[in-house]
Amino acid sequence: MRVLAMLDGTLVDPDAPVLRADDFGVSRGDGVFETILVTGGRPRELGPHLDRLARSAAMLDLPEPDRAAWERCVRLVIDAWSGGDEMALKLVYTRGPEFGDGSPTGYAMGLPISEKVRRQRASGISVLTLERGFPADLAERAPWLLLGAKSLSYAVNMAALRYAEARGADDVIFLASDGTVLEGPTSSVVVVQGHTVRTPPPTLGILPGTTQAALFRAAEAAGWTAEMTPLQVPDLLEADAVLLVSSVRKITQVLAVDGRPLARAERGRELHAELAALYDAQYEN
Ligand code: PLP
Repeated sequence: MRVLAMLDGTLVDPDAPVLRADDFGVSRGDGVFETILVTGGRPRELGPHLDRLARSAAMLDLPEPDRAAWERCVRLVIDAWSGGDEMALKLVYTRGPEFGDGSPTGYAMGLPISEKVRRQRASGISVLTLERGFPADLAERAPWLLLGAKSLSYAVNMAALRYAEARGADDVIFLASDGTVLEGPTSSVVVVQGHTVRTPPPTLGILPGTTQAALFRAAEAAGWTAEMTPLQVPDLLEADAVLLVSSVRKITQVLAVDGRPLARAERGRELHAELAALYDAQYEN
């Protein structure tokens, strides 16, 4: 099942063509998006997702998103959904048609969650580390690169995933040119050591993750220590657990990095289960 609603508040057939051929979102990847997990009819972290949509839009000099209109659009899709307990809700906001009246394009789609993602949440994944080719301090010097914006220009991220899959890995962890750990193509990296969780800071030019923030909030409330700090590949290899986290994949355990199984897999499994339960518990009731 799929549901599609335009930002003006109309529900449309999900198979209907709703974009103009000259939309900048299509011709240049010039726009931003968000993907939100909806469980039991409730969107997780809607406020932080809409905040980040506005932040990404500002980085691309797009008109400020109309928050009330997006909230209405989100509700419309959720109310029309009958495809089961979980839904991925994708918000798309582009610069609009090149030969239009200057208005942006906005729509929201309710989509099912793939079997593959559900399986990986439970079974864990293997990852390949791949260079992104930028120094760790580039983001502030080069704002035109849009590092840390959730822009529609994800072709490189998708190519990295295909590259990893062709080599037998499930996912990717990007590294800066000096080897600093960054993020996955569609996820944040979290390293667990005892009851401490650590993630790289957004100043490295990575997307601030809503799932990572929600996980850290839940972990801290349960007495864990949570830190934002630069990490190197040995931090992954020596960790009790490595996690890739995002709205749709939730808290997924990494079992192998670059073909090497992580040494503390058993301890890692326990810590992963504990953190996954803490993360989910925030959205119950
Ligand atoms: N980093 C990147 C590059 C992403 O694309 C995503 C989500 O797709 C994330 C991190 C995780 O963000 P969130 O937890 O808000 O889904």
